[in-house]
Amino acid sequence: MRLILIGPPGAGKGTQADQIVQRYGIPHISTGDMLRAAIKRSTKLGRQAESYMDRGELVPDNLVIAMVMERIAQADCGIGFLLDGFPRTLAQAKALDAALDEARMSLEAVVLLEVPDEAIVERITGRRLDPVTGKIYHIKFNPPPADAAARVIQRSDDSEQTCRARLARYHAETAAVVPHYEAQGLLRRIDGSRRPPDVTRQIIDALEG
Ligand code: AMP
Repeated sequence: MRLILIGPPGAGKGTQADQIVQRYGIPHISTGDMLRAAIKRSTKLGRQAESYMDRGELVPDNLVIAMVMERIAQADCGIGFLLDGFPRTLAQAKALDAALDEARMSLEAVVLLEVPDEAIVERITGRRLDPVTGKIYHIKFNPPPADAAARVIQRSDDSEQTCRARLARYHAETAAVVPHYEAQGLLRRIDGSRRPPDVTRQIIDALEG
């Protein structure tokens, strides 16, 4: 099962990715996680990628494409994979197509988690962190208990301004890849604004129904 998961920040991609990889026994390949790990280990790739990531820009295609191609050639990807955060540009999508073609493999589906921007802003700006326990709450959907209410804080990257900037970047990126997969008949649009188990059910139905 070779899958791609696409969705805006705050859409619940992490939660759904966990469910998908568990169900199909496939590795979860997140390019953001791989790049952060490379920076931590200070590899050549990490040193090249760091300044782009710090500025919130995309890492150049050649670096990311080489990293993903190497990863999906590994033995554990023989049964498939879930790509998360890749492809983000048309060049990346085309490079993946070419690599899979050459290996006589194909994608099963591209799952697009759709959540309206206003719902994302409400989810993210309402998020509060308890600095003592590390627990995450939401002022409306999951309010903190009385003893923690006074000390919960908002992370700086959960501000409305940062959230809207990330959404704008996401829309610019997906605009390049969504039509590419739609034209191939691979795109599965999923309503990500529902409860997490309902979203998981929709994904499974789309993949197996
Ligand atoms: P993410 O965790 O997916 O939000 O990615 C964090 C950062 O890693 C992004 O802002 C980019 O700088 C970089 N990155 C992750 N995936 C890619 C990709 N497919 N192409 C280019 N840059 C990427």
